[in-house]
Amino acid sequence: MPTTVFVVGSLNADQLLEVPAFPAAGETVLASDVLITAGGKGGNQAVAASRAGAAVTMIGALGDDAHGRLVRRALTESGVDTGWVVTADGTHTGTAVVAVEAGGENRIIVASGANARLTRQDVESGLAGAAPGDLVLLQLETPVEVVAHAARFAKERGATVVLNAAPAPADTGCLTTDIDLLVVNEVEMRAVAGLVGADEGREGGEGDEGRDGRDVAGTVLTTSRALDCVVVCTTGADGAYVNVGDRVIHIPAVRVTAVDTTAAGDTYTGYLAAALARGESDLPAALATASAAAAVTVTRRGAMASIPYAAEIGEVRANPDTTDANSITD
Ligand code: ATP
Repeated sequence: MPTTVFVVGSLNADQLLEVPAFPAAGETVLASDVLITAGGKGGNQAVAASRAGAAVTMIGALGDDAHGRLVRRALTESGVDTGWVVTADGTHTGTAVVAVEAGGENRIIVASGANARLTRQDVESGLAGAAPGDLVLLQLETPVEVVAHAARFAKERGATVVLNAAPAPADTGCLTTDIDLLVVNEVEMRAVAGLVGADEGREGGEGDEGRDGRDVAGTVLTTSRALDCVVVCTTGADGAYVNVGDRVIHIPAVRVTAVDTTAAGDTYTGYLAAALARGESDLPAALATASAAAAVTVTRRGAMASIPYAAEIGEVRANPDTTDANSITD
């Protein structure tokens, strides 16, 4: 029977405004352009998994408004089943206003809207058909107690539970033993490690400059032990680290000229989920595919629009860098 990737998460309308410079307090600036597109970590990851070839069911909430219809249409056009995306009364579709300055820097304001109204019941209805072999993919842009409930409910049905702990969690509410695989970037991993006491004696380094691979690898390992799950930590243009048992493997990123890194993490997570749902049991191989897909995303502008279809990543997948993983042991 074909397996399904169930994505429980956020759906937003992203409003991209290009401004010459950010307004100061009390100032008004004119944007040269406005682009409204579908987004949200849940929506982006669902589209990534679907474009990777998986059967994807989205569980989320939209407002009864034009943005909600736009988001639903965008998901459907990418092949995502939106039958379990509910329309919440009396609120708006989640909205992200992204102001981009001429130099490329951005400032983002998010109004959760309907995402904050996703309920345990919505999750139970959407996941009722989940079974062993299926994969349930979660993020943290919907209420934490609903995320934790989804993990429990999915686990009870024998599905594999993947948590992309983004944005970085503020408490341990979602960090349960129901998680099989945790996907985080470096900032998120350090937040998680701090919450579960896996960061003792370790200094945190951020960004590419001065990153200590051994330190990242060490935190991957201590976090995986604390949560009793596999941990994948993505490190931007450097690649990613994953523990395979007691070893931590570094999977280098594919070298490309990055134009816009928006949605790199969502592409990576969605492609990884699709590979696992397909039965790919070699985790480094699944990560190499995810890394190739994310490399294509960073060569394109935009969020959801920049996520490639599987047929578009052949060229970068052939790059020998993706298989040139060196290993680090604690
Ligand atoms: P974002 O929030 O920008 O979507 P993130 O912080 O969640 O991303 P990153 O660690 O920045 O996640 O990127 C995820 C993956 O995307 C990396 O592990 C890498 O494989 C790929 N990637 C990111 N940036 C680049 C880059 N400049 N060149 C090649 N691959 C990249």
